This record gives sequence, structure tokens and C-alpha cells, in this order.
Amino acid sequence: MIENSVLRELRSIVGREWVHTEPEDLLCYGFDATFRESLPDAVVSPATTEEVSRIMQVAYREEIPVVPRGLGSGLAGGSIPIHGGIVLNLTRMNRILEIDRANMVAVVQAGVVTADLQAEVARHGLYYPPDPSSQRHSSIGGNIACNAGGPHCLKYGVTADYVLGLEVVLADGRILRTGGKTIKRAVGYRLSDLFIGSEGTLGVITEAILRLIPPPKATCTAMAVFPRLNDAGVAVTRILEAGIIPVALEIMDDTTIATVEAHKKMGLPLDVEAILVIETDGEPEQARREIEQIAEICRQNGAREVRVAADEKEGAALMAARKSVSPSLARRRPNKLGEDITVPRSAIPEAVARIKEVSRRYNLPIPIFGHIGDGNLHPNILFDRRDAEEFARVEQAAEAIFRVAMELGGVLSGEHGVGLLKRDFIEENLGPVALEVMRAIKRTLDPKGILNPGKVLPEGGGER
Ligand SMILES: Cc1cc2nc3c(=O)[nH]c(=O)nc-3n(C[C@H](O)[C@H](O)[C@H](O)COP(=O)(O)OP(=O)(O)OC[C@H]3O[C@@H](n4cnc5c(N)ncnc54)[C@H](O)[C@@H]3O)c2cc1C
Repeated sequence: MIENSVLRELRSIVGREWVHTEPEDLLCYGFDATFRESLPDAVVSPATTEEVSRIMQVAYREEIPVVPRGLGSGLAGGSIPIHGGIVLNLTRMNRILEIDRANMVAVVQAGVVTADLQAEVARHGLYYPPDPSSQRHSSIGGNIACNAGGPHCLKYGVTADYVLGLEVVLADGRILRTGGKTIKRAVGYRLSDLFIGSEGTLGVITEAILRLIPPPKATCTAMAVFPRLNDAGVAVTRILEAGIIPVALEIMDDTTIATVEAHKKMGLPLDVEAILVIETDGEPEQARREIEQIAEICRQNGAREVRVAADEKEGAALMAARKSVSPSLARRRPNKLGEDITVPRSAIPEAVARIKEVSRRYNLPIPIFGHIGDGNLHPNILFDRRDAEEFARVEQAAEAIFRVAMELGGVLSGEHGVGLLKRDFIEENLGPVALEVMRAIKRTLDPKGILNPGKVLPEGGGER
């Protein structure tokens, strides 16, 4: 519960209409893209960094939990207010403040929708590569807070690789500015990096300075169909050994193919173990030459069929199979738990085999797809939350998938973050010393433990 006098103070900062406490409003901010829910006590929607700073001063004084929230598309439970308090809704801070062509940077507020930034940057003849599939319904602040990735990260890197500087409001309301428009900096610690991937637990990101690059002139796409998944894994290794870095190198396993085909009727083959969808980009001739080389490597390594798109329109049609995965899964069962493990690339075939064994052991459908070039797989456990017995099996299956990743030398998450759902495994994954260092950083930046409590770090470490 937040005292009425405190609510009045919050209203005086942002205006009456931007503080919500009615149950029907709170409901809208109590969930993300997972199946977990919890209500905040208030939703506060600031318009400026100054307002965020003043809200944090109040929350710090009163020791009220604050959960920063972008568009709530997170897949780790990160923006769910499990300890109540304030949900700090940053979607009003959605202005692109500057596109500086000479220095190839954009300065944006945290609530800008990623796809809006990409479109605006394109109008200036530039390119912002990080491309989470949720780009139309996630924010730059959320992308930075989770270090979001996407299909194009194999060639271009993840969100972290494009953050030159940040404006962050600290737990006590102080405003910190890190980095700047320069590409190189060697003055002190790289403070921006502290907040990238911190999932709202160390500060509220209010602005970002982002690196832009010239856009590729052409994109070429191919789809390769592999009767055996192992062969697809070998083909990926051979492609990269040949010195080609595709812009996207995506895999769909047999369960995923069947699920997409049932929903979309695209004519995908149902008697194979894997499909690779591959994109090259760059100068037109080079992109075309590389996709032909890749097609040949796939044929030599067990692909039954390789389709190379004649043009970008046909390429988009091939990529549509991969892009249809999420909506298709949603049709198969009422709920899904989308995991995000990353393993060394060479371990992908073994990881897939072991996850299929998990699927059999717990009797749950687990389509596996993802960014094979990065070693980043998205096994999605499909289930019906209303069935308590089934849900218990889901949690066991998720834990078994985490173990697969860790035993193969990988990590719990490649791009979605830890949030609430994976926090209890972070010590096992990173070790006790890493956890202690993270706790020390958390205590220094957030001594009262008000910023997104209960996320990333397991509870019970004294943070709150
Ligand atoms: C269909 C679908 C596809 C997806 N595809 C991808 C994908 O390809 N790649 C990928 O990486 N992710 C993907 N995601 C996951 C999700 O979209 C990303 O994690 C995204 O970065 C979250 O952004 P958001 O604005 O929705 O953040 P939210 O969900 O609102 O918040 C996520 C976390 O970031 C924190 N946070 C948000 N804004 C701020 C801020 N300004 N300051 C400090 N902390 C903040 C929150 O506290 C929370 O911990 C997908 C999700 C869905 C539903």
C-alpha cells in the first residue's frame, strides 16, 4: 500500500492523470509476455527525466519498490511487480531526440518503440541493426535493460554493441550520464555496460545514445531442408569456416515445422528434422555470391533441397516461415514458456537431442527454433496453465533445459534476460563469486533494494 499523501506527491510531479491506482488500471501493468502476474500499488507514467528523478527521490525516501517498464514484452518476468509498489511506465518518454548523420548516432528516450527508431533512422539513410522479433512491441529502454538480440546479431552484434552512452536515474534520484557520441573512450570504468542487461535492478534508463551504421544495399535469402538435424549443424560450421558471416542463420526443428505448417499451410516438408533459413546482405553481388556459396555448402552437407530466393520479395516469403513461429505456437496450446539458452555452436545438435529427450520425459511438446549461428536456441514448452499437474511438469522441464545448457558450457539466456523465472539458477550458471560481485554492485547502487526487487539475483541476499 502506498500512503495517500505519497500518491498526492506523485500526482504533483507527473499530473493527476498519470498516476493510476484503480484495479482495472493496475491489472494492465501486472503481467508481461510470460504467464506470471502480480499487481502494483500504483502505475506512474513520467514524461521527462526530471520527473523520473523526482519520483525516485520519493520512492527512495519511502522505500517503495519501483519496477521500470517499457512495453511489457519481456519473456523472463522482469517487469512484473512481485513486491507491489510503483510500476514506472516509460512509454510516454517516446521521443527520438536527434539523428546525427555526421556522427552516425541517434539520441532517443527510453520509451521509443524499436521499430519506430529503425524506420526513422532508415529515412535518414542509416541503419540500427538490433532486431528483436518483438521490435514493434518492445522499447529501446527494455532492449537495453535486457541486452536484446535477434536474428541479425550473428553479423551485427547485440544491443550492447550499439549503446554509446546512457542517461540513467539512480535509485536515490540522482541523474547519471555515461558515455557519449564518441566511438572510442578510455576514461574510467565503462559505466554504460553496468546498466546494459541489468533488467531495471540498478537504475532507470531514460535516454540512450545509439550507434548507427550505413544500411546494407541488398539481402539474399535461402531455405535449406535437412532430413537429419546433425547435418544442419555441420553445414552451419562449414558456412562459417568458409569465411561467410550470414546476417541471419535460423533453425526450425521438426516439431516447430509441424506447428507452423498446421497453422500457416505454407507447404513446409513434414518428414525432415530441420530447416535452416539463411540471409546474406551487403553489396548486391557479394550477397548473391555468398548465398549461392551457402546453398552449395548445404547441398554438400546433407540438405535434401535448397531454395534460393530470386529477389527480396521471394526472400521475405521464405523468411515468413521463421517469422510465423511465435503466432503458430500460440495456436497449439494456451500457454508457452519460451526459453532462451545459448550453447557453444558446435553443441547445438547435442542440445537439441537432449531437449527432445526432456520433451519425451515430461510428456510436453517443445518446439525448438532459434539463432543457430549464435548457438542461441528457443525451446518453447507448450502447456495449459489450468492443468496444475501439467504445469508442475513444465517447471521441471524448464529446469532440465537449463541443465542441458549449463552442462554443455552454455548460459541460461542469450537475449531475454534472467528476470524472475531464471534467477534461482544464476549462481549455478555463473558461480558464487560472480553472484557476490553482482550483489555488491546492487548494494552500492541501490542500498535500499527498491529497484525491481526480486529480479535477476535470487532473493535472500539482503537486497530486500
Ligand atoms: C513475440 C515475442 C518475440 C520476442 N523476440 C525477441 C527477440 O527476438 N530477441 C530478444 O532479445 N527478445 C525478444 N523478446 C523479448 C522482449 O521483447 C525483449 O526482452 C525486449 O527487450 C523487452 O522490451 P520491453 O520494452 O517490452 O521491456 P519490458 O518487458 O517492459 O521490461 C523488460 C525488463 O527491462 C526492464 N526495463 C524496461 N525498460 C527499462 C528502462 N527504461 N530502464 C530500466 N529497466 C527497464 C524491466 O524492469 C524488465 O526487467 C520477444 C518477446 C515476444 C513477446
